[in-house]
Amino acid sequence: MDSVDELQPPDRLLMGPGPSETHPRVLRAFGTPPIGHLDPAFVEVMDETQDLLRETLRTDNEWTIPVSGTGSAAMEAAVGNLLEPGETMLVPGNGYFGGRMAEMARRAGGEAVTIETPWGEPLDPEDVRAACAEHDPDVVGVVHAETSTGVRQPSMPAITEAAHDHDAFVLADCVTSLGGIEFRMDEWGVDAAYSAGQKCLSCPPGASPLSISDGAMEKVLDREDPVRSWYLDLSLLEGYWGEERSYHHTAPVNNIYALREALRLIHEEGLVARWERHRRFSGALREGLWALGLEPVVAPSARLPSLTTARLPGGLAPGAVVETMREEHDVEIATGLGAFADEAVRIGCMGHGARRGPVLETLGALGETLSAHGIDIDPGAGVAAAVNALDE
Ligand SMILES: *Cc1c(COP(=O)(O)O)cnc(C)c1O
Repeated sequence: MDSVDELQPPDRLLMGPGPSETHPRVLRAFGTPPIGHLDPAFVEVMDETQDLLRETLRTDNEWTIPVSGTGSAAMEAAVGNLLEPGETMLVPGNGYFGGRMAEMARRAGGEAVTIETPWGEPLDPEDVRAACAEHDPDVVGVVHAETSTGVRQPSMPAITEAAHDHDAFVLADCVTSLGGIEFRMDEWGVDAAYSAGQKCLSCPPGASPLSISDGAMEKVLDREDPVRSWYLDLSLLEGYWGEERSYHHTAPVNNIYALREALRLIHEEGLVARWERHRRFSGALREGLWALGLEPVVAPSARLPSLTTARLPGGLAPGAVVETMREEHDVEIATGLGAFADEAVRIGCMGHGARRGPVLETLGALGETLSAHGIDIDPGAGVAAAVNALDE
């Protein structure tokens, strides 16, 4: 084999659905030499990371850990532990990640029942209540921030109430909301929640938050059948992340360094201030998009600050625009997914990307890209509108 060059990936601005821009302090932490995963000094890092995770999730749950793997690993841990074979899980039908939940529920030996809701709309708590009455589920899944459509689920407490009235546990996907928009695990009555590093936490992918209430964990520890995944079995992981700190598998030490630093940044900024920052800069990004002739897919009341889905002007194909943005401007945005694949682009505003510089650079590049594809607009209109919005 010929020699392989030293790694030199292109310098892209990451404004898609994730991975997002990584904070330099997080990258430095990631590059810190690893120590042993059972070293008392690392156990301290684990404790601190768990405390910071509880603060960020707004929970007192003892059972709060970073799962080794990306968000889907934390998702599979949540579904696979909480749902037992033969049980029923309600899953949302309004986006791509609800479909993934359903697939995981089936693989866990359960039955998945979809709450039919159009893509681009949030669930109606009354539909959840009706589905609970009809199907008597053991677990109700909800995606708090649907990255495939840009929908925020606004009525979380009403959904958890409907589920609890039927004695079902609520499992929430907060992958694209944690650290970016309001999420209050305990106050909202969420029994299990998972997230990922590379969205609003602005961390490289690889260690993913998971939190489970005492009541839900009791169910996990009382299971008759062992969890089908040995790696993700929380009753075994308890040995490592619980009191004992005994070996289960080697923790991804550097990922946990990085996650700890990302969470420390959130603590410094303040969670509420961080939500407000996402609201402010995503608002400016949107003003810029509309000024460039893009049209929103989602109604204002359900728009997700961390991810905007928008139709392009002049019937332009998303794929061509995404490619020009990447190849000519080094800016990553994404095409739609599923129902919106051929119709819309998805533009993120997450974590370290939710700032003036990245937002204006994205809008400038998009203006030039649309012009280059023959759309008759002022290429600077997006930047001007965003600057205006930020000055208000
Ligand atoms: C990104 C994402 C996931 C999956 O996370 P991975 O890190 O890609 O495994 C799950 N749910 C939602 C809503 C996401 O946006």
